[in-house]
Amino acid sequence: MTKSYNGKILHIDLTEETVRIEEPNDVFYRTYLGGRNIVGYYLLKDLPDGVEPLSPDNMLVFATSVLTGLPVCGVSRNSIGAKSPVTGGWADSEVGGYWGAEFKAAGYDAMVVRGRAKKPVYIWIKDGAVEIKSAEALWGMKTAETEEALRKELGDSKIRVSQIGPGGENLIQYSCIIQDLHFAAGRNGLGAVMGSKNLKAVAVRGTKKPEGADPEAVKIIAKKAATGWKTNREKLGLHGTSMTSTVLQNGGQLPTRNFQQGLFEGAEKISGPTMTDTILTGTEGCYACSIRCKRVVEAESHGRKADPIYGGPEYETLAVFGSNLGCDDLSAIAAMNSLCNAYGVDTISAGMSISFLTECYQKGFIDTTKTDGLELKFGDADLALTLLEKIVRREGVGDVLARGVQAALEYVGPAAKDIAIHVKGQYVPMHDPRGKNGIALAYAMSPGGADHLQSSHDGNLAAPGKVLDEFNPIGIYEPIQILSLGMDKVRYYFRSHLWIGLLNVLDFCWYVASPPSVLTPDDVQALLRGATGWNINMWEMLKASERGHQMARIFNCRNGVGPEKDVLPERFFTPITAGPLQGKHVDRKEFEEAKSMYYEMMGWDRKTGMPSLGRIVDLGLEWAVPGR
Ligand code: SF4
Repeated sequence: MTKSYNGKILHIDLTEETVRIEEPNDVFYRTYLGGRNIVGYYLLKDLPDGVEPLSPDNMLVFATSVLTGLPVCGVSRNSIGAKSPVTGGWADSEVGGYWGAEFKAAGYDAMVVRGRAKKPVYIWIKDGAVEIKSAEALWGMKTAETEEALRKELGDSKIRVSQIGPGGENLIQYSCIIQDLHFAAGRNGLGAVMGSKNLKAVAVRGTKKPEGADPEAVKIIAKKAATGWKTNREKLGLHGTSMTSTVLQNGGQLPTRNFQQGLFEGAEKISGPTMTDTILTGTEGCYACSIRCKRVVEAESHGRKADPIYGGPEYETLAVFGSNLGCDDLSAIAAMNSLCNAYGVDTISAGMSISFLTECYQKGFIDTTKTDGLELKFGDADLALTLLEKIVRREGVGDVLARGVQAALEYVGPAAKDIAIHVKGQYVPMHDPRGKNGIALAYAMSPGGADHLQSSHDGNLAAPGKVLDEFNPIGIYEPIQILSLGMDKVRYYFRSHLWIGLLNVLDFCWYVASPPSVLTPDDVQALLRGATGWNINMWEMLKASERGHQMARIFNCRNGVGPEKDVLPERFFTPITAGPLQGKHVDRKEFEEAKSMYYEMMGWDRKTGMPSLGRIVDLGLEWAVPGR
């Protein structure tokens, strides 16, 4: 029977310059399925507790799933994980594009990288053959230059490259790993981990594409995905994720000026339709996806260019460099997006560190002696570009901001504590929990710090009808109250985050299989069955997802990231001052009660944060908790 996975995991030690292939059995694949679970398995099994994230002892795990690379819209992604320099705990990031499918076609399901090379290197994988090659000539290059140089050196224009830019080389705390020039494994500082290993890139080329155990069954789901998006996700293809800015603006919850407001007077100028009508030059998609939600733009502002080779801004980038900085210059936002992709730097963290410093200046916590002489203000695109350039090049005050939340707070002083809007050292993304309360739980409980991709957002299942009905199989039967943090919301969050967690385990695109979905939970089950030949059911799928959540939790507890870090930034407990949500805030008592109930449901100890022995044994994770 043809399987949808290779049965091979690559282990590379850059210190020892060795390559080893492990061949796990089928039970391993059925238990873990892929993605973040494979990341968790190796981090918990092989990484000693207390390791410094940027030391050679940290590990960097690239993982695909049993679905990756099938000719189906949405299963193109891969996961990358390590111990995070941002939080000191768990890091995993899922990234789209083409690299994951190509890596799988090259003969492996995952790759675990250990150690540190003496000099810069890159890894070259072609149809099973693996080489560690010198990257000294590539070190210092921006991402597009590196990709071009590698294509030339390897004599193949079809290679796919996962790489760091100068951001990762220079250990910017929130640098990311860039694939295909504009797909980022952002957040969590994975680029810095890769840079600390002197690993510039992983180039892959493969010709053995998976078909699955039952290609006809796979084809049925592929056909549905290729056409079904026109019903539920048409606007996503038309305007990309940037269409979200209009929805949030209309709801009075578009993060504006460091979350001080929820309405931005320039929202129209930076909206998805405006981008479509002005600077958009094309669209792109991930492997096998017909939605093509990725933007390609060309623009110039204040002498800085947005190069189409680096794609175009997603919603998060649009908001963080736009409304969040009070900036309505779409071309400048696009140029900032380009700069981040060229240097391999997380746009959310970079934008939030600029808005933090700007609010500090606005409130008088710092003066020009602490800003390289710049008079900081919101709404100045040239100034925002200048500050971002300082960050990516680690110059002046940009060097402070490049070291993350803690360094920025130490620089400004304790008065700014409530202005640094982060969880576990991770700056928050562009969603305000005061306008969708479930996000408060997502931010506080996410193992990697504030993360908006932990559960479905409250509004997605707020109305009765077909979309809600399709999600009945995961235990959601009634419309969700958006502004509630009662027990009904905890139950919704719990079930929804099991579903979304499964998508992270399967490296499945959120837009294809989360509500309003193109593929339903039943379709995902049918695809898994067709791909693997297993008689897998929803119970097993959701168990696999919980396994991932609990592994991340155990990893954090073993590494000192405990319950005291499950908090929400102070700003979200204070009322929004204008617009449709005026006066709304997260109720502190409700939040604490919701958190307690979530702990109960996950079986977590209130003091240590550790899952109970019952949960651990149920999920077969005894091996991950030494001494239990
Ligand atoms: S919907 Fe967008 S992100 Fe998802 S697979 Fe398609 S192109 Fe990629």
